[in-house]
Amino acid sequence: MNRIPLGNTGLIVSEVGFGGIPIIRLSREEASAVLRRAYEKGINFYDTANAYRDSEQKIGDTFAGMRDQVIYATKTIKRDGPGAQEQLENSLRMLRTDYIDLYQLHQVSQERDWQAITAPGGALEAVVKAKAEGKIRHIGVSSHSLAMALKLVGSGLFSTIQFPFNFIETAAKDELFAAARKAGMGIIAMKPFAGGMISNAKVAFAFLRQFPGIIPIPGFDSVAGVDEITGFYAADNAVSEEDLAVMEACRQELGQQFCRRCEYCQPCPHGVMITPAMGYGVIAKRMSGAVAADFARIPMESVPRCIDCGACRTKCPYELPIPEMLKKHYALFQAHRAALNKA
Ligand code: SF4
Ligand code: SF4
Repeated sequence: MNRIPLGNTGLIVSEVGFGGIPIIRLSREEASAVLRRAYEKGINFYDTANAYRDSEQKIGDTFAGMRDQVIYATKTIKRDGPGAQEQLENSLRMLRTDYIDLYQLHQVSQERDWQAITAPGGALEAVVKAKAEGKIRHIGVSSHSLAMALKLVGSGLFSTIQFPFNFIETAAKDELFAAARKAGMGIIAMKPFAGGMISNAKVAFAFLRQFPGIIPIPGFDSVAGVDEITGFYAADNAVSEEDLAVMEACRQELGQQFCRRCEYCQPCPHGVMITPAMGYGVIAKRMSGAVAADFARIPMESVPRCIDCGACRTKCPYELPIPEMLKKHYALFQAHRAALNKA
């Protein structure tokens, strides 16, 4: 695994990092085995967030005593200074360290996020102070909105930008990456599998490897997964004609509006199981209608509880029209169920 500079930070990171969400669902022992395997395979860059339940703790426990050999990136979702400071202290404790290499303001996607973090007494003020105190080495930011990401890069306030990037979501490829490079910023690519919508890992990484210097951070939940993805970096993995055809078929299948399963919209105050229900259209295409209707019965039966309050919609970083999409998926589910009942 090659090591490359993360922009102008001075941090030298593995060309693929470790995304810290999937280890949440593993036991401590399983998570530790996956993290250790990643380290053995040459991954030294671990990205997590205080919001990812016990992810920081699992990382901190696994690499206790090895602090100088790993690079930690974590995040705060808080917009106010005291909240961000509290989350930072919590992260330091969970990761068992007295400094964070890269501390990111998490999911700054809307204007109200920007206004809040940059206000007097806001999160940015607190992290700048923490950096001066030596608790943070570099300040970064993550976003899901291209317009806001361009603004964040242009602000000159951050050393890195984290943004979704995969062969379906390529919006960042030209303007954003060029601006970030020009500013000397490190670029971290989240969602290399488009939130689980891309199932072909070989093709996903063949695409990403065309962009050296951009660090993807796939989430790993198994030792086999670590071996598979690090294996792509040990061999030539150039994009073939066949790969291009797979990418195009996947783009056609998903269209522009699809759920990345990030779960920021949840919980629904009325008990709608939003994320699994939002995936119904894709599940139905990949399975058959009959199998999908049976497989997704429980989440789909929660959809009629939606009263169109709009609470989820304002939380979706991709600005998906969730209630409308749910209604469409529910109509499809009903048609599949009717066909199933007739058979
Ligand atoms: S719009 Fe529907 S799904 Fe979204 S939060 Fe409101 S009730 Fe729940
Ligand atoms: S609807 Fe939006 S916020 Fe909810 S899981 Fe899907 S992409 Fe994420």
